Amino acid sequence: MHKILVLVALVACRLALAQPATVAMTAEPVAEGTWLVQGHTAMGSAANQNFISNAAFVATPDGVLVVDGLGSPPLAQRLLALIRDKTAAPLRAVVVTHCHADHLYGLQVLQAAGAQVLMHERCRDYLASDTARLRLQASRDELFPWVDEHTRLVTPDRWVGDEGTELQIGSRRFVVRHAGPAHTPEDLLVHDPATGVVFAGDVVFRGRVPYVGQADSRRWVAALDGLLALKPQVLVPGHGPASLQPATDLAQTRDYLQTLRQAMGEAARNLEPFDEAYARTDWSRFAHWPLFAAVHRMNAYNTYLLMEHEAK
Ligand SMILES: [Zn+2]
Repeated sequence: MHKILVLVALVACRLALAQPATVAMTAEPVAEGTWLVQGHTAMGSAANQNFISNAAFVATPDGVLVVDGLGSPPLAQRLLALIRDKTAAPLRAVVVTHCHADHLYGLQVLQAAGAQVLMHERCRDYLASDTARLRLQASRDELFPWVDEHTRLVTPDRWVGDEGTELQIGSRRFVVRHAGPAHTPEDLLVHDPATGVVFAGDVVFRGRVPYVGQADSRRWVAALDGLLALKPQVLVPGHGPASLQPATDLAQTRDYLQTLRQAMGEAARNLEPFDEAYARTDWSRFAHWPLFAAVHRMNAYNTYLLMEHEAK
């Protein structure tokens, strides 16, 4: 009896916490037959259904290419509905730009709808890791009911190596390039030569402080240059709005990373403790960016550790 009461209380509590499906989601055209579904600038929460990252899709007469799977299965269901609004063509493929939860947890819906899931092979380790398992377990509580016991990590249908690959959908050819290690070891870009759109994943953040995590920021800066060499007409980032001026809009991400590397590199070389170096550095240029309070200090700390390692 006691157990049942506890269970009822738990369920009631979860229902009370559950938010109605009001989080806004739209598909904005960014090029011919190409739409961006832009996530909210926030940390993931049940209130925003973990809709904090972008997805995009390209509709061709012969099928649809999707970039990224969003942060929960219900979000991916809504993405599917937006795709169905634009085209009746079958879902062909979804390219996962990297294996972070906010880009992954909706994949099972897209795969079930017929999309072949592509990931870089360096996602293998992550998908099999305790980190991934524990993260999903925690998300089932924190993001309930949007992420729940039915949410799982999808095994891709096709692994992409460092050499990249091409995807042919009817007469359209999409180029999938390995851009990592940058934001993550496995970063993939999708280049659509027909429209000049480059889908950059989290190699580019716009309108917020980037999430650095365990990134190799030296190579990340180099990857930004590699991306510009593709001469994109339109740049679709992993977070934030699309850009029609990629060279200018990339500068935010590059400037942020370089400032972190310079300040934390100097501190690491001088054996200055992190707290002191962090406190005396002038971060005011970034302090007004969204999510500064949530992620900047951790970004600086991770960069400090990286620079200690690079200095050896
Ligand atoms: Zn992301």
